[in-house]
Amino acid sequence: MTMLLPTFELHQPATVSEAIALAKTHAGDFDYLAGGTDLLPNYKCGLNTRGHVISLAKVAELRGVTREADGRLVIGAGVLLKELEASREVPAGLAEAASRVASPLLRESGTVGGNLMLDNRCHFFNQSYFWRRSLGYCLKADGDRCHVVPQINDNGKTVLNNKICVATHSSDLAPMLVALGAEMTLAGPEGTRTLKLNEFYGGDGIRRNQRKAGEVLVRVTLPAWAGKARTGYSKLAPRQSVDFSVAGVAAALQVDGGAVKVLRIGLGSVDTTPVLFDYSRQEVRAAANYLNVDPGKNMPEVIDRKLDDVLIEAVAKHVQTQAQPKLNVPMAPDYRKKMCGVLTRRLLQQLAKG
Ligand SMILES: Cc1cc2nc3c(=O)[nH]c(=O)nc-3n(C[C@H](O)[C@H](O)[C@H](O)COP(=O)(O)OP(=O)(O)OC[C@H]3O[C@@H](n4cnc5c(N)ncnc54)[C@H](O)[C@@H]3O)c2cc1C
Ligand code: SF4
Repeated sequence: MTMLLPTFELHQPATVSEAIALAKTHAGDFDYLAGGTDLLPNYKCGLNTRGHVISLAKVAELRGVTREADGRLVIGAGVLLKELEASREVPAGLAEAASRVASPLLRESGTVGGNLMLDNRCHFFNQSYFWRRSLGYCLKADGDRCHVVPQINDNGKTVLNNKICVATHSSDLAPMLVALGAEMTLAGPEGTRTLKLNEFYGGDGIRRNQRKAGEVLVRVTLPAWAGKARTGYSKLAPRQSVDFSVAGVAAALQVDGGAVKVLRIGLGSVDTTPVLFDYSRQEVRAAANYLNVDPGKNMPEVIDRKLDDVLIEAVAKHVQTQAQPKLNVPMAPDYRKKMCGVLTRRLLQQLAKG
């Protein structure tokens, strides 16, 4: 079946302020567009399309990777994935995560901003309009019920789930950036704000983050320590290229004299947001509801302990136990859950060798 792009008006601002002004004019009926590798396929499926599309491709202030005097690394939202993949400035794990997104052709146009704002995925959502209509649509587009979790417990009663979408957050960069303690700067009609990426993500598969109306992601900033950490990213996908991750594990590790000083695991593609396991317990975020991963639950003691096989096993087991993949992307949830532990173990074994 041919799927055509719906009609929309394309705007091409040259600055962030022009983009925000356009967003104000077309409030409620626009989307930002960067490389278009996520938004345009979704538009072709008739998923939540808008009458106006504001392209960020000509906004020069979103480009570039620069090192601040204090050691922090600033990555523009408009940096292309192929640039991130080739960069010697960014932590090795981040370049690795970029190199695992989609295919070389898609990384030519896909951007950091688009990857972090990627829409969540689900078998019942990423389908043509015709396919979705035959099933009566779902909560995330055009419908009023969820096919993955059809019923929920509401105040002790089992009721139809017309409230929570569990579509999966499948970005490859997000788990790595969350593990690296990245901050993001957003500019919008109400001004500019900076917040931790881990705090930005939240909510169900529809809401999925704290972006306010009209806000543009301008840049991502990595703390100075991230430049000294051992980092890595490992991804499970049906095929090595082109396919979205169905489980992604990122790690940022600092070891001093054999003892762990920092260990942060970012887990992707098993929940409605990326999940951070910060074993220093400094960044703890409780699960929003019982369907979400609870990273703080039963967390083992890790900091100041030797990174040996026993400790690696404890961390791998913890990540695996907490992960809660749903049956809405390829590969069975129990296999993906097990692989969260396997990928964590392999990654930490590699990083332990330095
Ligand atoms: C076949 C295929 C395979 C893919 N495989 C993967 C994969 O393995 N891993 C993966 O992570 N992704 C994958 N993708 C998705 C996509 O290619 C990447 O995530 C890419 O990084 C998206 O970036 P983009 O610039 O093209 O985003 P766009 O499509 O332009 O935008 C995506 C979303 O982000 C918003 N947005 C973009 N920039 C900004 C900004 N600066 N501020 C605010 N909002 C913004 C847009 O409004 C839109 O909602 C795949 C896509 C396809 C078609
Ligand atoms: S998980 Fe979300 S996208 Fe998937 S069927 Fe349920 S409501 Fe729709």
